[in-house]
Amino acid sequence: LAQLYVPLNMLGTIYRSINQTLVDTEKLLKLLSEPTDVNDKPNAPDLIVTDGEIEFDNVNFSYDGRTPALSGVSFKVPKGSSVALVGESGAGKSTVLRLLYRFYDLKEGDGHIRIDGQDIRDVTQASLRRAIGVVPQDSVLFNASIAYNIGYGKFGASAEEVEAAAKAAQMHDRIISFPDGYETKVGERGVRLSGGEKQRVAIARTLLKNPPVLLLDEATSALDTATEKDIQKALQHLVEGRSSLSIAHRLSTIASADLILVLKDGQIVEQGTHSELLAQDGVFANMWAAQVQGIEDAGSSHSRQKEAI
Ligand code: ATP
Repeated sequence: LAQLYVPLNMLGTIYRSINQTLVDTEKLLKLLSEPTDVNDKPNAPDLIVTDGEIEFDNVNFSYDGRTPALSGVSFKVPKGSSVALVGESGAGKSTVLRLLYRFYDLKEGDGHIRIDGQDIRDVTQASLRRAIGVVPQDSVLFNASIAYNIGYGKFGASAEEVEAAAKAAQMHDRIISFPDGYETKVGERGVRLSGGEKQRVAIARTLLKNPPVLLLDEATSALDTATEKDIQKALQHLVEGRSSLSIAHRLSTIASADLILVLKDGQIVEQGTHSELLAQDGVFANMWAAQVQGIEDAGSSHSRQKEAI
């Protein structure tokens, strides 16, 4: 049996990667185009997560060695708290998440990124990535059943665990509305899920993975109010008790974040809670006013506009 295990396991891996390629070739190519020159140090130990505390300590980073993408960025995400990144396009929000996931390593002298006091360059990438759950803007689904797509978060997950995760992610009712329920095929050759539904499947998958650290990239595309509420509820379940770092595009969705970092040209220019930042009447207050104004200009009723920001 043991002799069969390795080839079968490999077949599983191959099956998964073929599936994934079929599902969303473009996304996969994008992912693969991320640099692969990040190498583990010889005999690097695994990351040991105790609290899941994240720390950026005077981080400088440039993609091309000339233009800074991040300059002198320092912040902490204490155990179980939620920190949101806001800022205009190109401010450096995604770079913060990419660095924490170790798509790139910091150069010597360009600061430190630590989880529970361990520099992430000193531990294995595999252990780092096991500790981090990612809910991206556009979630990739495999050409397989919904149950498979959710269960992928945890090896050997039972049907009950999959269903509990789908319930917490506000997706269960939608799933059982399909004739084949959890066995419904999704992806290119199955049922096409909306962006909001795909994101809830990804949230359910991440709930099963149960990572101590979370990276969230809020969808930029407009979602209807009901979907937005479902996603917010699903995310509440997900972030509870975990350290989370999220990119927010709609400023109202981060009203309850423990800390908001405002990035501009790769630097943190303001930080505080939603109400503290509004009171500062600076960059964040201007962004907030612009979003309110933008929605008012779109011409719906005033109360709905405020709700939708
Ligand atoms: P958005 O809201 O548009 O996603 P962002 O705040 O996430 O923007 P980043 O993607 O972190 O911004 O980009 C920060 C800076 O780094 C920008 O000047 C951007 O042009 C540059 N940059 C981002 N990715 C790369 C890359 N792969 N190669 C070179 N420069 C890059």
